[in-house]
Amino acid sequence: MIVAMQEKATEEQIDAVIDAMVEAGVGVHRTTGAMQTILAGVGPTASLDLSKFENLAGVLHVHRISSPYKLAGRGFRPEGTVVEFRNGVTVGGRQVAVMAGPCSIENRAQIFETAKRVKESGGSFLRGGAYKPRSSPYAFQGMGIPGLELMREAAEAHGLLVVSEVMEISQIEPMLPFVDLFQVGARNMQNFNLLRELGLIRKPVLLKRGMAATIEELLLSSEYILSGGNYDVILCERGIRTYETATRNTMDISAIPVVKKLSHLPIVGDPSHGTGRRDMVAPLARAAVAAGADGIIVEVHPNADKAASDAAQTLYPDQFDKLMSELRLIATAVGRTI
Ligand code: PEP
Ligand code: MN
Repeated sequence: MIVAMQEKATEEQIDAVIDAMVEAGVGVHRTTGAMQTILAGVGPTASLDLSKFENLAGVLHVHRISSPYKLAGRGFRPEGTVVEFRNGVTVGGRQVAVMAGPCSIENRAQIFETAKRVKESGGSFLRGGAYKPRSSPYAFQGMGIPGLELMREAAEAHGLLVVSEVMEISQIEPMLPFVDLFQVGARNMQNFNLLRELGLIRKPVLLKRGMAATIEELLLSSEYILSGGNYDVILCERGIRTYETATRNTMDISAIPVVKKLSHLPIVGDPSHGTGRRDMVAPLARAAVAAGADGIIVEVHPNADKAASDAAQTLYPDQFDKLMSELRLIATAVGRTI
């Protein structure tokens, strides 16, 4: 950590800051410049609340120079994490993984038809929610386990893997036989009890960025899963809330290269929730792959306009098919395959 003192800081104030740092177990290296004193702290700073130093008299600002997340940091696995699934599918390697399907599982015909079209277009995961975190309690809440049974059957019939959202701890166990990848939704990114439990299982987790979460908070949330011993975590940029109202969320494409720099974990882009608009899903999916995403997760439904949830941002299968041909070209251009 670095503590920059104000130009007019007194020796007493500097000594008080040094004492506070030493008391916190941090070794202090002092540099006295012509104008300003800088205190460099070395030691167990990851667990320190730096704001307490910011409030001391005479302090200008305090910076953290080591990351507060240890297991999610790039330094833990400089070569990057590759999450392996059945069928030779990987996320985080050369392949760009495509996860597609409806927002919610609705019925047998819908999920089987979607699975067929997703597979034909070259997707490797079937997505679909059985437990839906809806803004309104009166909106469709999902089919639960009967929906997951249908999705598993449809995925098996078409050689796809299954990704579906888990909303609470009690759903983990019953979902285990049906999913290959547990999705933690934006609204649960900071449900730390759920994250801890998911750290104890040995099945990959797709952790979506909260709609008001910083990248550092996303990485700290992943740390909850990693610290339980589950190293198969995939991050997801799904758009954040900003002052912009033209799109449902603002898809933060820059989060992709930022996460790649800070962390070894794979990251996928979700242009469906990222934009909320069908006509903008393809451009943002292309941008995500061009920016280095390890995959994309997209909402697709055979009768998109009639989807029980997120209809406005859901692609028709033909649109998804066209997008896949475009993504293949972009993947090649950035040294990846789909
Ligand atoms: C979803 O994937 O349908 C979903 C609810 O996503 P998010 O958690 O990103 O809103
Ligand atoms: Mn959705």
